[in-house]
Amino acid sequence: MSGSPPPRKPALRVAIVGAGVVGLSIALELRSRGADVAVYDRGIELGGGVSIRAAGMLGAAFEWAAEHDKRALAALARHAGQLWPDHAARLERLGGGPVEYSREGALVVARTAGEVEWIASLTAACQARSFSALTLPLKDLAVREPALAPDLLGGLWLADDQQVDPVLVLQRLGAALARTGVGLRFGRQVDRITAGQHFLMPDGEHYDRVVIANGAQPAPVFVGPRGARLSLGLPAPVPVKGQILAIAPIEQGPRHVIHTRDVYIAPKSRWILVGATTERNRADTEVDRDAIAQLRARAAALVPALADAPELTAWAGVRPGSPDDQPLIGQTAIPGVFAALGHYRNGVLFAPATAEIVADQVIDGKVSPLAAAFDPTRFDNPDAAPHSPSVKGSDN
Ligand SMILES: Cc1cc2nc3c(=O)[nH]c(=O)nc-3n(C[C@H](O)[C@H](O)[C@H](O)COP(=O)(O)OP(=O)(O)OC[C@H]3O[C@@H](n4cnc5c(N)ncnc54)[C@H](O)[C@@H]3O)c2cc1C
Repeated sequence: MSGSPPPRKPALRVAIVGAGVVGLSIALELRSRGADVAVYDRGIELGGGVSIRAAGMLGAAFEWAAEHDKRALAALARHAGQLWPDHAARLERLGGGPVEYSREGALVVARTAGEVEWIASLTAACQARSFSALTLPLKDLAVREPALAPDLLGGLWLADDQQVDPVLVLQRLGAALARTGVGLRFGRQVDRITAGQHFLMPDGEHYDRVVIANGAQPAPVFVGPRGARLSLGLPAPVPVKGQILAIAPIEQGPRHVIHTRDVYIAPKSRWILVGATTERNRADTEVDRDAIAQLRARAAALVPALADAPELTAWAGVRPGSPDDQPLIGQTAIPGVFAALGHYRNGVLFAPATAEIVADQVIDGKVSPLAAAFDPTRFDNPDAAPHSPSVKGSDN
């Protein structure tokens, strides 16, 4: 039989709102599956949101092993952690440079009897969820991380936890997308999208699907062809401010991520990060010197050399929280519009898993069992979800 081949199906056109680690990772995944993708961001360049302000810990075990009421989140974290080695290699290959991916694992240390007990329960929780957790006798702890204070009371090594430099991750994502033909549209605030046969963006471009990944900001308004407002069924975002300190790298500084209950230390080659405050319902990025001094004092109790090392800078970022502190991933109440929001304190960790889940839905209409608990329309009373009172402590 002869004749011309069947016409090729045109590529699915997808607009992503938000060029943070979540939106950019989704763009890369969609592009690799053949979609025609454009990312819109209100910032003038990469890094307008919180992603570039993160510590870059990929702490699936530390973060989620002990959260008994959040099994689905632990499963998502584990899956994301498993994706990261290949994801990092892909970013380095396509983005043309390192992301400082490290598999040294994380140490959890105790300074008090209460923290020794806390470590014991974390160890049991990790073992119950098959995360690697190795209790370290004090002499082994000192060998593994010589920078630690000599008077600690206990230690645990979480071998599965990893880390990257989030600044480099964003840079590599940007380069990889530019190289693979994804349109990066900076300086484009998207406030309103018209839904009809296609989705019409403010710049007049049409798309078949829209993904909202704009972090802690309210989602754009969607209207029908006659201007009537359509509900996405999403709750209002819950901003959670986090302050963090960057200390100059020091000789014989720490090599691992080190956690205790109220502070963490995440060493990178450009600086040593010490974080972070957790200030719920705060959306400002002011730095409070008392909070930073407190972080420094807590870090110096773990690694004495950090007491006097020069401060390079300190900053605050706004984590995109949600009413139940769990992400919103999947189709919204408007068919063809997807959410990738509410990644709170683990957006860097979750990004490759969210990208996979969203791409499965957008391209194949397939809902991953991993995503069932994160249906973005799960809240009964969208846009009116109550905010819980402000709390301060230490977290990512
Ligand atoms: C101090 C601190 C430490 C952290 N440490 C870690 C960590 O170690 N590991 C980890 O996994 N996570 C960490 N996090 C959390 C992590 O930073 C976030 O979960 C993640 O960056 C969220 O990414 P995002 O892409 O959803 O949001 P963002 O990075 O904020 O991206 C959203 C983008 O949307 C754009 N935008 C917003 N509204 C619009 C609009 N209307 N139109 C167009 N563009 C718009 C913004 O300009 C922005 O670029 C930390 C956070 C903080 C504050």
